[in-house]
Amino acid sequence: MTDFLFFAAEAESNEGTLTLLLYLASAVLFILGLKQLSSPRTARRGNMLASGGMLIAIVVTLIANDITSWATVIAGLVVGGGVGALLALKVKMTSMPELVAAFNGFGGVASALVALAEIERNDAAFSVETGVVVALSLLIGSITFSGSFVAFGKLNGSLPGRPILLPAGKSINALLALGAIGVSVWAIAAEEAFAYWIVVAIALVLGVLAVIPIGGADMPVVISLLNSFSGVAAAMAGFVISNSALIIGGALVGAAGMILTLLMADAMNRSIANVLFSGFGATTSSGGPIGDKPVKSATPDDVAIALTYAENVMVVPGYGLAVAQAQHAVRDLANILEDKGINVTYAIHPVAGRMPGHMNVLLAEADVPYDQLLDLDQSNPRFGQTDVVLVIGANDVVNPSARADETSPIYGMPILDVDYASTVVVIKRSLSPGFAGIDNPLFYLDNTMMLFSDGKAAVESVISAMANV
Ligand code: NDP
Repeated sequence: MTDFLFFAAEAESNEGTLTLLLYLASAVLFILGLKQLSSPRTARRGNMLASGGMLIAIVVTLIANDITSWATVIAGLVVGGGVGALLALKVKMTSMPELVAAFNGFGGVASALVALAEIERNDAAFSVETGVVVALSLLIGSITFSGSFVAFGKLNGSLPGRPILLPAGKSINALLALGAIGVSVWAIAAEEAFAYWIVVAIALVLGVLAVIPIGGADMPVVISLLNSFSGVAAAMAGFVISNSALIIGGALVGAAGMILTLLMADAMNRSIANVLFSGFGATTSSGGPIGDKPVKSATPDDVAIALTYAENVMVVPGYGLAVAQAQHAVRDLANILEDKGINVTYAIHPVAGRMPGHMNVLLAEADVPYDQLLDLDQSNPRFGQTDVVLVIGANDVVNPSARADETSPIYGMPILDVDYASTVVVIKRSLSPGFAGIDNPLFYLDNTMMLFSDGKAAVESVISAMANV
C-alpha cells in the first residue's frame, strides 16, 4: 500500500492526498469485488462493490481535474450509462459472450482514444518513457478493438465460426507486429503524430488477422485473452495520463483476464499458443455426416421409468438448457427425485454454455444447492456408478470423440465422461451439432436414449410422466 501511494505520488503531482486516498479506496473495492465474484453466492455483492469503486474513481477524477465542460461529461455519462443499462436489460443470457466481446473492443478503443487525445494535446512531443506507453496503448488498444469485433462476428454468426487460414498468415502477422514496433520507434524518436496513426492502422489489421484464423470453439479463450488485453491497454492509458485508478483498474482486469484465459485453455487441454496459432479445427474430420446412424428415441414415459428405478442421477446442463430456460423445471424434477430418495447431482463442464460460469449462474437462479454442483474432476470418477445421466442441451462437452478420435477438432479437450453411466438420456431438439459443428457418437451408443424436444418442454413432460409411474 505504501508503495502504491509512493508510486502514485511520483506518477502524478496533481493527485493530492485526498484524491490518492479515494483512489486507494476504489482500488480496495475493486479487489474485494473481484474476490467476491469468485463464488456465485457472493458475486452480486462483488459486482456492486466493484461498481461502487468505479463510481468513486470517476467522480474523484472529474473533481480533481477541474473539469469545466460538465455538459459534455454529463452527456457522455447519460448516453454511455443509458446504452449500458439498456443492453444489460435486453441482452439475453445466451448472447452474453458477444456482449463481453463488444465491451472488450470498446475498452480497447477507449484506451487508444485516450492516447490519441494526448498525442493531439502534446503535438506528439513526449519523453521516451511516455512515448513508449502511448505507443503500447495504441497498439494493444487497437488490436483489442478489431480483434474483439471479429470475435463478436464469429460468435453471433455474422462471420464464419470456422478458422479462416490465410496463406502465410503467421508470417504476415509477424511482419505486421515487427512493422508496428518499428513505426512506434520512429514515432517516439521523431515525435511524429502521423507515425502514431500508422501504428493504429497496423494494429487494427493485426487484430483482425490474429483472430480470423481461430475457430469458434476456441472463442472462450480468445475472449478472455482480449479481455485481459483491454485491461493492459487501460493500464497503459493510465500511465499516459498519470491516473493511478486507471492503472490499478487496468492491471486488475489484465491479471484477472489472464488467469481466466489460462484456466479456460487448461479446461480445453490446450496451450494458449496452440489456441492462437494452430488454426485448430480447420481441416480435421467431423466423424462423417451428422445424424446418419440409427438412434434410440425415447418418450417422456421411458425417461420417467428409468429415473424412478435409479439410485444416483447426474444432470449435465449445456447451452441448450440456457436457450430453453429449463433451469427451474430441472430443479422441480430434482425435487421430485429427491423426495423419492434418489441422489441428484449436477456435473458442470468449465466451457458448457457460452460464457465462463454460465451453468452455475443458471442453476443458482433456480436455487440449486451449491454442494450438488460437481466440477469436471469431481464428476468424471462418478459416472461409472451413476444409473442415469440426464444431458440437457449439452453436446460438445459430452462428446466422446474428444477422448477417442484423434482426427476430431475437439480431440484432447477434457469432456464429461457421461457414456460411462448405465443409462444416458440426451434431451435436445434434433441431432444437430453443438458449437464446434461436429457429430456426437454419444447419440448412437447402446446405453443412450434421445428425447427429442425443447429442453424445458421435455423436462416438464418427464415431470408429468413421473406422476403416472
Ligand atoms: P453445444 O453448443 O455443444 O450444444 C448445445 C446443444 O443444445 C445443441 O446441440 C442444440 O441441439 C441444443 N439446444 C439448443 N437449443 C435447445 C433447446 N431449446 N432445448 C434443448 N436443446 C437445445 O453446448 P455445450 O454447452 O455442450 O458446449 C459449449 C460449446 O460452446 C463448446 O464447444 C465451447 O467451447 C463453446 N463456447 C463456450 C463458451 C464458454 O465460455 N462457455 C464461449 C463460447 C463458446 P438442438 O439444436 O438439436 O436442440
